[in-house]
Amino acid sequence: MSSLFPRTKPAFQAEYEMSCNTHNLKYVMYFSMLACLVFGIHLIHHFRLGFGALNPEMIPYTLLYGFAIIYSAFNILFLSKLRNLPALEPVASFIEFTFPFFMAALAVLLSGLSANFGLGVTPFAIIMMVISFTLQGQFKLMCCVVALAFWTLAIVLVFTTGPEVYSPLIAISFITSVACIVIANLTERMRIRQFEILSELNRNNRQLQMLSQQDHLSGLLNRRAIDQILERELSRSERFAHHLSLLMVDIDNFKHINDAFGHVFGDQIIVEIADAIKMHVRDVDYVGRIGGDEFLVILVETHHNDALQVADRMRNEVYKLNDKYKDCLVSISVGHGISEGESHLALIEKADKALYMAKNAGKNKVRSLFSTPAKAQ
Ligand code: GH3
Ligand code: MG
Repeated sequence: MSSLFPRTKPAFQAEYEMSCNTHNLKYVMYFSMLACLVFGIHLIHHFRLGFGALNPEMIPYTLLYGFAIIYSAFNILFLSKLRNLPALEPVASFIEFTFPFFMAALAVLLSGLSANFGLGVTPFAIIMMVISFTLQGQFKLMCCVVALAFWTLAIVLVFTTGPEVYSPLIAISFITSVACIVIANLTERMRIRQFEILSELNRNNRQLQMLSQQDHLSGLLNRRAIDQILERELSRSERFAHHLSLLMVDIDNFKHINDAFGHVFGDQIIVEIADAIKMHVRDVDYVGRIGGDEFLVILVETHHNDALQVADRMRNEVYKLNDKYKDCLVSISVGHGISEGESHLALIEKADKALYMAKNAGKNKVRSLFSTPAKAQ
């Protein structure tokens, strides 16, 4: 059975359903606009008959055109608004679900009414073909709608026309219905295949982009990514006249840790220090590893004192690792620079100079070029 009905792979199902909703909402709007235009023109033409439009012979047309215009106008005006209101979303879904039935009903009525006037079942053929191919992810529903519309039309034709009229018309509408179902099935299969390929590509692209920005050991941003972000955040901070603080962090005596305890242990310390740094930044800040034992922290919209407090909390957090690793001394030195209209490279240099001061002051310190050192050690 599953091979008869086009279906997405489970991994893409939720995404595909969302895409179908957006796609179908768009098409319901387009068809509604078209229906408004076509039936509006018909109604205007109709009322040129004056009171003749209200003759018993003409009244079905008048009612049909009037209803089609009101229903379509409602969709155009309110459907996307209903979609955006969570409480009324089921109403929007119901309208979208019943829309193919509305189109099919129009097709049957128009064909039924015009069967004796030479148009035959042309409205049925055109309307059913168009909705079968355009509505996405609704193949089963479309099969039911097409079958129901065909049988209703056949019955209408049998009761309103003679055998010499209804025999060829029923044959034509039957062939049209089968063609609709076959081509809609193939179209849906193609759509699903295309969607899966595109989704896979997008997923891979996102993953590649993430990998190209990530430091594989610590999971932090890498040098290239943090450089780009710093440039972007600096111009943003200038535009909005905010302060931006930059911290340059370096592990103290890391060569010794590596030599004494091995590279694997050194790597573990890098990861733990990265986690300790991340613990003290907000979601809007950025942390990157720019070299062996060096990190950059961008604190957006953060002035001097706040930045020094954050840096000192980081330094403290790292120092706490000594409770865990009793044999080796783990600590960091932090240099702080604040943006004063310079380039990102100049700001990095500023933080680097402050870091140099922290190292010279005996390590496990926070220093800033801006003014007096933090009250930290
Ligand atoms: P200082 O206190 O002055 O910073 O001295 P230091 O020993 O930390 O000197 P430096 O910062 O120059 O040393 C960096 C060392 O980090 C050198 C290198 O062996 C080591 N290193 C670089 N990348 C990695 C890495 O990915 N893993 C490990 N385990 N070690 C690394
Ligand atoms: Mg170091």
